[in-house]
Amino acid sequence: MQSRSFEKRRGIMLVLSSPSGAGKTTLTRRLLSEDSDVEMSVSATTRQPRPGEEDGKDYFFVSHERFKEMADDGQLLEHATVFENRYGTPKGPVLNALQQGKDVIFDIDWQGASQLVSSAPRDLVRIFILPPSVKALEERLRKRAQDSEETVQKRMAEAESEISRWDAYDYVLVNDDLEQTYSDLKAIVRAERSRRERRPGMSDFVRELMQERSS
Ligand code: ADP
Ligand code: 5GP
Repeated sequence: MQSRSFEKRRGIMLVLSSPSGAGKTTLTRRLLSEDSDVEMSVSATTRQPRPGEEDGKDYFFVSHERFKEMADDGQLLEHATVFENRYGTPKGPVLNALQQGKDVIFDIDWQGASQLVSSAPRDLVRIFILPPSVKALEERLRKRAQDSEETVQKRMAEAESEISRWDAYDYVLVNDDLEQTYSDLKAIVRAERSRRERRPGMSDFVRELMQERSS
């Protein structure tokens, strides 16, 4: 069935940031599995894959040389160095998805989020995820069991500086109860989709409504 003019909308660039272990990946995966209008932006990185991670699905795992080439060639929407590795967002897939009216979700750090403010201010919705406590964050990093003890300690040391970036975001969620946080995330997405400036077909629809009334 053909969609009606009021249904047309501009896609959202949904950025989720948090200290490592606060729950971004868990929330993102769930939203992706339940909402077919949301696509994941798959980043390129120079870090080594963790057990179970797949090239092209979790990340594009690339060499330092290839990453530099992509950055120099303008193929990345943003890029940053995090934990001594380079991370960046390939531009092409994001622009394609937005053009098709899809929302794109980004798991990127505060440096990437602030670069996107200058390149795509209208489409950006930034959400910061906080852990309920430092103890819970450490337990979650251990429970994930993907990193060595040394890496867990490094991530805990970085957490404070990540957390201090919370006030540059549009929304802040404390991920204590996962169901509650996920429900809040969905509410944000629903509300942002209804913003007037993201509804390009609304003027036509309102005109049709007025005509209907006067005819
Ligand atoms: P991030 O992507 O932010 O690094 P993850 O989504 O990988 O974090 O979550 C880290 C660990 O914490 C995972 O094992 C995940 O299952 C767990 N987790 C996520 N949210 C919660 C929550 N609200 N309560 C308890 N454990 C959680
Ligand atoms: P991890 O190695 O745990 O997957 O990610 C480490 C950090 O890098 C996380 O804070 C994550 O949000 C960030 N990150 C992942 N991809 C990108 C990216 O493309 N750009 C930026 N700026 N940060 C990223």
